[in-house]
Amino acid sequence: MDTAILIEQTKSFFIQRAELYGPEFYVEKKLAAPVANSARSALTEFYHQIKDCQKCRLAKGRTHFVFGIGSPNAKLMCIGEAPGYEEDQSGEPFVGAAGQLLNRILEAIGFSREEVYIANVVKCRPPGNRDPQPDESAECLPYLRKQIELIQPKLILALGRIAAQNVLGTTAPLSKLRGRVHRLGEIQMLVTYHPAALLRNQQWKRAAWEDVKKLRRIYDQEVGDKPPIDFGKQK
Ligand code: URA
Repeated sequence: MDTAILIEQTKSFFIQRAELYGPEFYVEKKLAAPVANSARSALTEFYHQIKDCQKCRLAKGRTHFVFGIGSPNAKLMCIGEAPGYEEDQSGEPFVGAAGQLLNRILEAIGFSREEVYIANVVKCRPPGNRDPQPDESAECLPYLRKQIELIQPKLILALGRIAAQNVLGTTAPLSKLRGRVHRLGEIQMLVTYHPAALLRNQQWKRAAWEDVKKLRRIYDQEVGDKPPIDFGKQK
């Protein structure tokens, strides 16, 4: 193929992706795209402020600072714990096996990955995928709080104990955090199992399904911009 055509096709691929996901991820790869709206530009500006963060020991081992991805105007935000190997390599949260399951869970309740916003409490990969240590989470949490403030979702889904405990500032166990609606000011938050835990523990899938059906019901009450889903027809 003609090199000029190949370059044009590559550029247009990245511009399309940047329009979909926001430029913050691609800017790092020197492929900035036009800024589409104010939440997006505020997020992009924030990304530039924090992307070279050196506040904790995790900075040394990272390939990418995994900022977050999705719609800057998302009504639903999903929050995980920290990047794993694939996320560190790609710079995008939830792209590995747990990410594939998260995509399927979202799809089952009528959301595409592109319309929600996905971020982690901790932006750099802990070595060997260990749990983030409390001082690492404490340094990173203000970044997540700022992302929430800029995006202003109506609903948050916290994925797993570590995400939920950090966002809520509690040490309560997951069993006490699931099954109820938490409030962060105007934002309502539900907690469910981390998709990686669901991959290891199939027996928790039914309970997780109940969690996300509840999430969708609250979304319908609060936002109500989606066609109804007949959950009776789904397993
Ligand atoms: N697990 C997380 O908590 N976050 C990711 O981005 C990937 C796996």
